[in-house]
Amino acid sequence: MNIAIIGAGPAGCYTGYLLAKEGHEVSIYENHSAVGSPIQCTGILTSDFDQFGFPLDSFLVNTIDSIEVISPSNQKITIKQRDYIVCRIRFDNFFADKAKNAGAKIFVNHSFQRREGNTLVIKETENKREIQITPDIVIAADGPLSPTAKAYGFYHPRRENYYGVQAIVKGTFEPHTIKTYFGNEICPGLFAWIAPESSTSARVGVATLKNSKHYFDLFMKEHNFTAAEMQAGTIPVYHPKQKLHRENCYLVGDAAGYVKATTLGGLIPGLQQAEILARAIVEQKNYDHDVAPLRKKLGLHLKVHEIMARFSDKDWDTLISYVGQPKIQAIFEKYTRDNPIPLVSHALLKEPRFLRFGKYLR
Ligand SMILES: Cc1cc2nc3c(=O)[nH]c(=O)nc-3n(C[C@H](O)[C@H](O)[C@H](O)COP(=O)(O)OP(=O)(O)OC[C@H]3O[C@@H](n4cnc5c(N)ncnc54)[C@H](O)[C@@H]3O)c2cc1C
Repeated sequence: MNIAIIGAGPAGCYTGYLLAKEGHEVSIYENHSAVGSPIQCTGILTSDFDQFGFPLDSFLVNTIDSIEVISPSNQKITIKQRDYIVCRIRFDNFFADKAKNAGAKIFVNHSFQRREGNTLVIKETENKREIQITPDIVIAADGPLSPTAKAYGFYHPRRENYYGVQAIVKGTFEPHTIKTYFGNEICPGLFAWIAPESSTSARVGVATLKNSKHYFDLFMKEHNFTAAEMQAGTIPVYHPKQKLHRENCYLVGDAAGYVKATTLGGLIPGLQQAEILARAIVEQKNYDHDVAPLRKKLGLHLKVHEIMARFSDKDWDTLISYVGQPKIQAIFEKYTRDNPIPLVSHALLKEPRFLRFGKYLR
């Protein structure tokens, strides 16, 4: 089959690789002039990334061994977790190279413009010429604002997006600890982060639904940081009813909103979804059905996020005091954020007081 993928991010290129290696004719269209640029990501992966068996060395920047959670009143807990910090340029190119080596063609400087029936109009951005393609299958992997998904009428008008603002900061950092700061004055609805690249450099950011730059500036000032480089980008809020397949078009990655609502991590869910989509196309299976286990995990993240987004600063202190108990901390150290179902169910069994926060559920 002739398959057009719009967007050469990790979700698009990994889907392209999986389909090209099964003999499909795959063309990937990317509007930027190079894969992976500009960077709009902190590049944190949980150790669930190991499940894919990819060699880390081509894009690994740092390995993390713990996550510090800091409440508004400066209570702290440290959770031992192995995470990876990756370079998104090298990470994205790793998947692009895999796709190319399997026979996919990648066209940079090619921007999806619109749809005319079954024909897609793509603009060659260097010479401003428009070309028309009529693929058998279209895959929208063009990120959180996916023009392709919009052209196929996928998005409901109330779709929400976070906006993340991040800087590379030079200084002195604990090299293997990610620090996360919670509180309504710090980063309403989410958290601010300091993710070290090394002992002398870190990725520092916030993401909120509104006024991200305001909270980012406050956080930078509070910590006396100066930005050596700025990055920013949109992150979709997962929507459990988002349709993923319509006519000959499928959504994957951020275009589908497949992001953990509690952390806004979308890389692992996007790669997992790419595998499900490619299998569904190759084996002519039902994508919507096969994606259900992943949807369940992301749905639980969304519920937890909805609760936390209504937390008072005092609730954060209470939560941290519950999680700091050795019996609960052990659960948080056993399961990664990509495994929320056993994490939440075991934590609830051992500490029923978590149920008190259920009052914030809509
Ligand atoms: C500040 C910030 C920090 C983040 N930190 C993390 C993190 O630490 N860990 C994590 O897991 N996730 C993180 N994320 C989320 C993560 O970046 C995304 O989930 C991930 O990039 C999604 O991959 P994707 O392939 O679906 O989309 P993208 O990586 O967005 O790729 C989509 C591609 O489509 C291209 N495109 C867009 N429009 C068109 C068009 N019209 N025509 C052709 N091509 C087009 C884009 O240029 C882009 O290359 C962060 C996001 C932000 C903004």
